[in-house]
Amino acid sequence: MQDTVKKLDFMAEFRGRFGHDELRPGQAPLMHSVLEGRDAVGVLPTGGGKSACYQLPAILLEGTALVVCPLIALMKDQVDSLKRRGIPAEAYHSGLLSNERERIIDAFKGGHLKLLYLAPEQLARGEFTSLIQKGGLSFLAVDEAHCISQWGHDFRPDYRRLGELRAGRGLDKLPILAVTATATPQVRGDIARQLALREPLEIVTGFRRGNLAFEVTHSNGDLEKMRALSRLLTDTRRDGGATVVYVSTRKAAESLAAHYDHPTVAYYHAGLDARERANRQEAFLGGKLSMLIATNAFGMGIDKPDVRLVVHYHLPASLEAYYQEGGRAGRDGLPARCVLLFDHADIQLQKYFINRHPDQARESLKRRLGILAEMVAYSTSSICRQRYILKYFGDPESGLFSACGRCDTCLRPGKKWIRKLSLVLRS
Ligand SMILES: [Zn+2]
Repeated sequence: MQDTVKKLDFMAEFRGRFGHDELRPGQAPLMHSVLEGRDAVGVLPTGGGKSACYQLPAILLEGTALVVCPLIALMKDQVDSLKRRGIPAEAYHSGLLSNERERIIDAFKGGHLKLLYLAPEQLARGEFTSLIQKGGLSFLAVDEAHCISQWGHDFRPDYRRLGELRAGRGLDKLPILAVTATATPQVRGDIARQLALREPLEIVTGFRRGNLAFEVTHSNGDLEKMRALSRLLTDTRRDGGATVVYVSTRKAAESLAAHYDHPTVAYYHAGLDARERANRQEAFLGGKLSMLIATNAFGMGIDKPDVRLVVHYHLPASLEAYYQEGGRAGRDGLPARCVLLFDHADIQLQKYFINRHPDQARESLKRRLGILAEMVAYSTSSICRQRYILKYFGDPESGLFSACGRCDTCLRPGKKWIRKLSLVLRS
């Protein structure tokens, strides 16, 4: 079957279904890898067309592609847009009524679906594994694949069970495509190991965000931070567009929002009920809010083009989380700023979270402290921020790239950063 897929048909299908004339970097090798039945790991930036890497092969191949996805909202978005293009796809998740579930299972059994989206915990359930063992599958796509790795910034234990699919479930011949927008070389290795991939093709591309200016501002305490934030907001108001301020605690989100006390400013965290979160997200996406002050509960799957400023009020737990959150700025390709307000005291705040984490195994603690130390190293480095990030993610472009000309270290190279923070980390 795979041999019959001609390149011309492939591009014609791509243009017809996705409305783009050109493939983005990395898409073609990943799509071909799936069509040829080879395992692959793809790291493509958000907005870099990572879902097309499995959607197009799913349309071209016989059978149903299973797509594992961690969030119901993400699945729904993708399924809605596939259906609009006339592609039979469904999302099977815990939020469905039993008759909807039955309808989807029937469609799947009848071979009427090209893509079936599932949460990882659904795939691990007995009823589903016996269903998928009956065959009729084209391949397995694992989206947000970094969730499988404890080295990643968003580890989800349910993802771990995906590895079992390769072992003893009769699915050992099913090709697997793992994609994510963020994975260091270590996380990529872990993805391949956990999913028992066989000589996977690895594609890493496009980490550079040429329109973003990364900055680190050293601030001591809330007073200095608030002043820095107010200055940034004044600049952004002049330029228009929206702002996201990331904070590490729910309390900080609420108190900052109270400080600004304005109808176009709101906070967002996991303590709000689902309906209120959805309302606030919608208001932000629809342009009714100029600023959202949020914990890391906000953001996965958000694609708002005109975010001009992302401020990290507290030090994030990892450079991966930072780049993913900061990367929500400037999706429209126009200039945008990503500013980290660095305060030594926040290292202690992150260490406090690490010490309260349910997984207290010595190795896990060590790993999390190491990830935090990388974040601190970035914050106190004097090399170009963008170059630092490309190197960190092992983007092949990092070797060719010396300075972005936009970040604080490029624009103010003489700045002296406080060094030897490893001492602080050890204290
Ligand atoms: Zn730079």
